[in-house]
Amino acid sequence: MLTIDLHTHSTASDGTLTPAQLVDKAAAAGIRNLALTDHDTTAGLAEAQAAADKHAIRLINGCEISVSWSQTTIHVVGLNIDPDNQTLQQGLSGLREYRDWRAREIARKLELYGLENAYEGAAAFAKGELIGRTHFAHYLVQHGHAESIRQVFKKFLVKNKPGYVSGRWAALGDVVDWITAAGGQAVIAHPARYSVTRAKLLRLLDEFREAGGIGLEVVSGSHSRDEYQTMAKHAENKQLKASAGSDYHGPENPWIELGRLPALPDNCEPVWQDWPQLS
Ligand code: AMP
Ligand code: MN
Ligand code: MN
Ligand code: MN
Repeated sequence: MLTIDLHTHSTASDGTLTPAQLVDKAAAAGIRNLALTDHDTTAGLAEAQAAADKHAIRLINGCEISVSWSQTTIHVVGLNIDPDNQTLQQGLSGLREYRDWRAREIARKLELYGLENAYEGAAAFAKGELIGRTHFAHYLVQHGHAESIRQVFKKFLVKNKPGYVSGRWAALGDVVDWITAAGGQAVIAHPARYSVTRAKLLRLLDEFREAGGIGLEVVSGSHSRDEYQTMAKHAENKQLKASAGSDYHGPENPWIELGRLPALPDNCEPVWQDWPQLS
């Protein structure tokens, strides 16, 4: 089992635990090195750091940034970023502005479909400074329009469904630049989750590396064992380092637990290989 987890969420984005609760839970689960990687914000990091200081846990400053690449939404995790970096913060604030426009657009579409007040409803679930699709999902489950978060996505929030709005996020090269400007390392999140062909995924990895990206999340809470092996092979072939993260969003998603990530496959070079202070 790994004692490192480089991909987690809090109430600063679409997780359901506060940053402090997340850190407490990670410490209790045996995590020694934890990255908080909220979507398009670093707002939870200060609270997470204060909580980490109380435990024998090292916090890695992170974020998970939304990218549009070749008509596909891709998530890029930035690790060891300086949250005070202006280039990074300007980029993230542009994404949050887009998120607010998109949230109103999702609500407008849901209203055409007959579901009212979705913007206000989703906003009530958003505890941080941004609204995501997960917040809409919580609202729609609360009002009985679907039985689970997963069901809401399937019924309302994905392509060809009533509340779908196609993402217009940041460019891949820009996002890698922001992360690098902030002193961090860029890693492609959950690479097996994108609905792209193998050839297109390999093209993404080439472009990502060309842009200055250094890692691939080989072990992810959303990957199968077979996918660990496939992604480890891709990382090796493309000379990318391997990362590992649960993508934990809170206890509502019991299929992903903290402290349960298996070791990286043998052929991997860990992204944390040269990091100081790892215990
Ligand atoms: P957004 O960035 O607002 O478009 O929302 C993306 C987030 O929605 C992801 O980070 C997941 O937390 C969640 N999500 C995406 N697809 C699903 C799904 N099929 N079931 C449950 N949650 C999902
Ligand atoms: Mn999420
Ligand atoms: Mn993601
Ligand atoms: Mn995530």
